[in-house]
Amino acid sequence: MHIGIDDTDSKNGMCTTYLAAVLVERLQNYGDVIGYPKLVRLNPNIRYKTRGNGAVAIQLEERSGYATRIEDVVVRTVEEMAEFDAPNTNPGIVILDEIPEEVKNFSKRAVQDIITIEEAIDLAGRCGKVHAFKNGRGVIGALAAVGATLEEDHTYELVAYRQRERCTTPRYIDEGSVFEANKATYPLTWDTVDITNNTIVFSPSSPCPVLFGIRGDGADAIQKAFEMIRSEPVERSIVFKTNQGTDAHLIEGEMASVKDECSYILNGVVSAPPHTIEGGHVIFSIAENGHKIDCAAYEPTKNFRGVVRKLCVGDEVTVYGAVKDHTINLEKIEITSLAERFIRQNPVCKCGKRMKSTGRNQGYRCKKCGTHAGAPEYILIGRELGLGLYEVPPSARRHISRPLVRLSGNVHPSI
Ligand code: ATP
Repeated sequence: MHIGIDDTDSKNGMCTTYLAAVLVERLQNYGDVIGYPKLVRLNPNIRYKTRGNGAVAIQLEERSGYATRIEDVVVRTVEEMAEFDAPNTNPGIVILDEIPEEVKNFSKRAVQDIITIEEAIDLAGRCGKVHAFKNGRGVIGALAAVGATLEEDHTYELVAYRQRERCTTPRYIDEGSVFEANKATYPLTWDTVDITNNTIVFSPSSPCPVLFGIRGDGADAIQKAFEMIRSEPVERSIVFKTNQGTDAHLIEGEMASVKDECSYILNGVVSAPPHTIEGGHVIFSIAENGHKIDCAAYEPTKNFRGVVRKLCVGDEVTVYGAVKDHTINLEKIEITSLAERFIRQNPVCKCGKRMKSTGRNQGYRCKKCGTHAGAPEYILIGRELGLGLYEVPPSARRHISRPLVRLSGNVHPSI
């Protein structure tokens, strides 16, 4: 059985991953959980998301005769734990015996595009069982979580939860122990801390049950980091297999055909230089085949803006990020070719003295020996920017964005 669940939380509490962790415990009486439960991040630009647009799925080998009982436990757990009173919480449950190709394709689209509730309920209903609560929007995520194969790429996250009675109090985590755990396990774990900005980034600040989440490529390294972290008591923890850190949301696109609320990889040439606007956001434009798009490194991307500010007209780049109002919200940038930059100077006379201008378009004259020259000198200046891939710091990273530490080649990981 494949059980998918989504949209059980609100900004005021709960987390669908917590519900999954409780369910894994409850379902142990009726079957064996196969592999790791999945945490699938869907299109990060969905306006209805509470935080990271995550949905969960559990695969269960049910004991004979328990299928109805299992469905009952899942429904009752959602009814008991979901934030039904929140206006934007519309839980969905999908239960399938197997995962048809159509559902796998649906899942890919849910990561990259926008899907309607009607389509999700129709497809889920044709393939298995559906429980749609309130407007049923959660069925989109529930079906997409079930359909995610995580075959192309995947990572892991260990999520540790708070004791319920503490959920309204500030979290206690010994930050020093987090930096030590990072030092001992990076790069097999990542996005735990942001060293450049001197902060831990693996713990939310909302009143949800999550204490922290440790992400990485290796379940063993994640476990090692977990054991090193000192904090308030952990009520329970669970390891998910996930598409976090994989860039699964990015579409290799053409500038002419981008649409809002989707995320792209686009090639272009810098056509308008970077400038900083109110709020500290840095904006520049790129062009390709007569089309143009603005690119933004927003203030929360901190030191990444320093890279972007060094771009010049004529630089060839590949940009990665979500499109909103025909502007790319940069997650990464690859600089593939740097334009030559020159500064214009008055020429140096043969006598060694630098000449003076004799007026607009009238050339230059040496004050010492009276020699004339018509043209200025152009001096090639070095660029303070290397080729390669640059990224936003961990504190500004989207859950689904691939950290550069997971790539080889000419990369400049932000740590
Ligand atoms: P959390 O991170 O705490 O799990 P969340 O950010 O995942 O919360 P949800 O509460 O699950 O947010 O709300 C997102 C809603 O958007 C869900 O109802 C989900 O089904 C729906 N959704 C997800 N992906 C898409 C998509 N591609 N198109 C349309 N709707 C989507």
